[in-house]
Amino acid sequence: MAPPTPSPDAPGVKFQAFLAEGSFSLQVCDGCGTQIFFPRTLCPSCGSRALTWKKASGEGTVYSTTTVRQKPERGGDYNVSIVELAEGARMMSRVEGVEPAAVTIGMAVTAVIATDDAGPLVVFRPAEGGGA
Ligand SMILES: [Zn+2]
Repeated sequence: MAPPTPSPDAPGVKFQAFLAEGSFSLQVCDGCGTQIFFPRTLCPSCGSRALTWKKASGEGTVYSTTTVRQKPERGGDYNVSIVELAEGARMMSRVEGVEPAAVTIGMAVTAVIATDDAGPLVVFRPAEGGGA
């Protein structure tokens, strides 16, 4: 039996659909202005259902980071970071284009839409002229 399919209107599905179109978008609460990530149905700040999708700036800074150690034959070490977006929301992702251990807290990063087996996703690269 096939697993249940989420509604195309589900917030997470819409987030993915925007990524597939090349747009990294976040929900913004019409009631209190909170920028929301991960996508959801209610504002976590005020409970409003009036949420509007807006294109994110893609700018952020590394809030927390670690290097996951992995054997080279399994793909080698990789970075996992929590990035604080310029809009205020934080998201877990990874910083690419630099050695995993070279990622530092406070590093300026820019969002890039990448694709893996699960579809499009947001990863980050060191910002132009930014860095640690
Ligand atoms: Zn709100």
